[in-house]
Amino acid sequence: MPGTVDTAALTAWVREFGRLIAAEKDRLTELDSAIGDADHGVNLDRGMTAVLAMLAGDAPQTPADMLKRTGMTLVGKVGGASGPLYGTAFLRMAAAAGGADALDPAGFAKVLRAGLDGVVARGKPVAGDKTMYDALAPAVDALDEALTAGRPFGEALRATVRAAEQGRDATIPMVARKGRASYLGERSAGHLDPGATSVTLLIAAAATTLNGD
Ligand code: ADP
Ligand code: MG
Repeated sequence: MPGTVDTAALTAWVREFGRLIAAEKDRLTELDSAIGDADHGVNLDRGMTAVLAMLAGDAPQTPADMLKRTGMTLVGKVGGASGPLYGTAFLRMAAAAGGADALDPAGFAKVLRAGLDGVVARGKPVAGDKTMYDALAPAVDALDEALTAGRPFGEALRATVRAAEQGRDATIPMVARKGRASYLGERSAGHLDPGATSVTLLIAAAATTLNGD
């Protein structure tokens, strides 16, 4: 059924995220070399390669199982700040999916917000800290707003991508207040945040795989 997000759809989402991370690995690492330690793309690609291998091996049976195994793999394989952040996001998404066999668009929006709450619980970012939060939070808000306004799921997801992209681009002038980039102080301004860039790929992957069109 269009707009139904079941285990297969969520698997397609995560696989597409892995594909985008592999394709953008060098660029993400380059962004991290400007204001961090040049490992963001490598970190995430290591984790997502392990996630894709896990998914290819023993296919998860429920949304929660799929999201939980993704989160645990990321926590185990991705080092740095982003491993626990992405890992916690997926583990919180799993908990929010509960025992459901499939989610409707509003259910997916709730799951995504739980992921954002996980990032907040783990990293304590607030708006303007120049982190993945600055792209993910506006995206989650945009999805809720679009669905509440009665927009079809595909359209709502496209609005979500635009909000993530705007949030990502808005990190350029920000001075980092969290993570390694914060050690640079004012010198962190003028660069895209790597985590805001990778999380925008997560949202873009949702729009291409869950669109319901
Ligand atoms: P590390 O900084 O440990 O090398 P990565 O390079 O993999 O880890 O990830 C860096 C990204 O993690 C940053 O671009 C930022 O978006 C995100 N990040 C770092 N610290 C936090 C935090 N406390 N809260 C939210 N996001 C954070
Ligand atoms: Mg880094």
